[in-house]
This record gives sequence, C-alpha cells and structure tokens, in this order.
Amino acid sequence: MKILKEGDTKKVACERCGCFQNATFKLRDVPVSDGSGLVKNILVGVCDACDTVAVIPHQSTPAIKTQLDKQRKAVEGRVPSHLIDILNLASDKLGAQTDFVPSLIKYYIHALSKNVIAPTELPVLLESELAKGRANKRISLKGRYIAEEVERVKASAHIGSTTELLKGVVLKINDEILVHQKQDRIKELENLVAATA
Ligand SMILES: [Zn+2]
Repeated sequence: MKILKEGDTKKVACERCGCFQNATFKLRDVPVSDGSGLVKNILVGVCDACDTVAVIPHQSTPAIKTQLDKQRKAVEGRVPSHLIDILNLASDKLGAQTDFVPSLIKYYIHALSKNVIAPTELPVLLESELAKGRANKRISLKGRYIAEEVERVKASAHIGSTTELLKGVVLKINDEILVHQKQDRIKELENLVAATA
C-alpha cells in the first residue's frame, strides 16, 4: 500500500464532475455517509475542479473508525452507589485501577452474549437484597459491539431494561470475583488487566 502525504496528487474518478479529475490530498472534515456525524481532519483526495471529496484513501480508514467509535452512542444506566463500590473492589481484587471497570463489565457482557456465562443466572441475582437501592450513579460503556451484545443478553435473560441488565452484571461480578473468588475467571481477568495496563 502506498502511503499518501498531504499535497500528493492523483487522477481519480470524481462523482460530482462525472469524469476523471486531478485530486489533491488534504486534511478535511468529512460527513459520514449515513448522515450521523462528521469525521474530522482526515486525509482525503479533493477534486481540483469542484472541491468535493472524491476519494478516501485506505490509510484513513483506521482514523475514521476510531472517531466513529467515539461518537457511537454509549450504553448507559443508573445504579445504586454500592454497585459501583463492588466494581471498584473487583478491579482492586484483580490488581487493576478503577479505570478497568468498563473493561470488566464489557468482558462479562461479552461472555454472557456468547453464553460462556449463562444469562439465565441474572434474573435470580436481581432478586437479591443487593439489587435494591436508590439508583444514583451512572455506568456508561462505549465500544463497537457493546450495544448489540447488551440487547442480545437482555433478550436471552428476559430482562427488559438496560439498567436492570447492568445491575445483574455487577451482581454476577460480585458473585464470582468477590464472593466465590472463582479462580479460573480471576486468572483470565488478571491476564486481561496485564494486557491492558
Ligand atoms: Zn470534481
């Protein structure tokens, strides 16, 4: 793959002009084709004749993906504050800082969505005392697959709201990491901590 630089030129098929034109590669803000946003400062080929973006080089794809992931809507819910304490304690138990918490929750949601952990265990946990309390702290998760996985787990666990699902996941983390100290799970998560530290 040839890496292009700002100022490089190339003959490209310009859609606006309907013919081949000379394009110059420049940093531009580019609207996303589905109209959902603007990707900023991306190297693109701009048609010298009509000044529209005629081509997006392959090398710009990772930068576009990164920006789109950031813009993607987060999965959010409000939970009682003691559930945040559980997440912080579980992170600590794994030798991680509290910034590991979103990765920890995402690990569980992924495992639940793949049935590595049975989603049917969640409703039982939601019956416990720990599930109660005023929801006053926010959990916010971002990622490329998280929204889709959350919906899948909600469907298979028959849980209606995202907040309830997040509560169930935290209680599962409590059950495995803090209460039963499940060794194989802890080992696996410690590896993840080491890899992301
Ligand atoms: Zn043009």
